[in-house]
Amino acid sequence: MAFATPIIACAYAEIALKGRNRKVFLRKLINNIQIALKGEAIASVNHVESRLLVHLDDPARAEQIAAKLQRVFGLQWISPVMAVPRSKVDPELREDLEAEREPRLTAVGKAAVALAAEMRSDARHFKIETRRSDRKFALNSPAISRAVGYTVHHETGLPGRMSHPDLLINVLVLKENVLVFAEKMPAHGGLPFASSGRTMVLLSGGIDSPVAAWLMMRRGSRPEFVHFYAGRSIEEADVAKIKDLVGVLARYAPVPLKLHLVPVVPYEMRAIGVIEDRYDMVMFRRFMVKTAVRLAKRNSCLALVTGDSLGQVASQTLRNLGAISSDISLPILRPLVGMDKMEITAWSKKIGAFDLSILPYRDCCSIRSPRPILNARAQDLLGFSEKMALHEAVTEAVNNTVRLKIDPC
Ligand code: ATP
Ligand code: MG
Repeated sequence: MAFATPIIACAYAEIALKGRNRKVFLRKLINNIQIALKGEAIASVNHVESRLLVHLDDPARAEQIAAKLQRVFGLQWISPVMAVPRSKVDPELREDLEAEREPRLTAVGKAAVALAAEMRSDARHFKIETRRSDRKFALNSPAISRAVGYTVHHETGLPGRMSHPDLLINVLVLKENVLVFAEKMPAHGGLPFASSGRTMVLLSGGIDSPVAAWLMMRRGSRPEFVHFYAGRSIEEADVAKIKDLVGVLARYAPVPLKLHLVPVVPYEMRAIGVIEDRYDMVMFRRFMVKTAVRLAKRNSCLALVTGDSLGQVASQTLRNLGAISSDISLPILRPLVGMDKMEITAWSKKIGAFDLSILPYRDCCSIRSPRPILNARAQDLLGFSEKMALHEAVTEAVNNTVRLKIDPC
């Protein structure tokens, strides 16, 4: 739980490893933060010595703002902080040092005491952990921890404890402020939204594909979604669940997300009587992938994303995966390929999609003929594609695609 404070500090992790591009990523991250906090009274977002400091006009909004920041990709952790200006800290320290007294850093200590009362009034022991970003500060980190710890002990009576303390208070010395904070609220890490290019995500109504989309969003991709619906119309297919799933993913994006709804009838009309039953599933997958590529290219997407997990179902054997996409001209990203269902389900719950994913929905894959072939050959699929005029099915499907913009829900 965040306490009322005018400053929230954010740490980024992976961006720090970037070389010359770091500035570009940071600019994008700051921009995404500003959009995520639109509607909140924010005075500024500043990059200060490897941290981003978000200054709020209304300290009472700290908790809600921290929660929004936790969904901004690229941030590692979020922390409401107390900031003690160096103009208050430095003169006292100078005086102590000149008088050869044990330095006390009382102003920082008092902030730590206030924080202790706010965060854990029931704490039985504490520890101070210090980092200096400003290496010119006259005390080293252990000496700072000692000085601040003195005040906390003196005013609260709590003993210090080095391992597993109830309360860990962090002190971070910056050039203009000393930050004091207790909690590091975890964020998702990764790279800023839209820093890695656009992808076209094949989104079913199941558990896997929303997780795949989220994981690639966390790597900085900007997704568009394509969903293939069964039946004669979007109304008949009742795609409310699909829209809601995109809405959940849009919570992690600074912009509304696009959803392309594609009918499967153009495939079915041409497959009937031409495609043997046991090839129907793999040919249908081929239709989806080919159509997704066409839409991807029209919308400047550089890769497809699917929720395939190796061996999970018949269409996901190595042979079938290879045969389905033997002549596909875009990379297909499969972030779940090495995960098992338990792991994928845990992610689904974590990102807030699970309850929606398990609602009943008549997915077009669930109505394909049973007992699909497990080891299709690329050559055969190319032959069937010719025979059924798959490219015409793709063109017709693309021409009948409906595009929507989905806001967060
Ligand atoms: P689950 O396995 O939880 O039922 P899923 O999304 O993985 O859900 P699969 O049948 O395993 O469904 O399909 C594998 C992948 O094919 C999906 O992850 C998705 O990327 C794509 N896919 C399946 N059905 C559709 C569809 N109707 N529209 C778009 N993509 C689909
Ligand atoms: Mg699956």
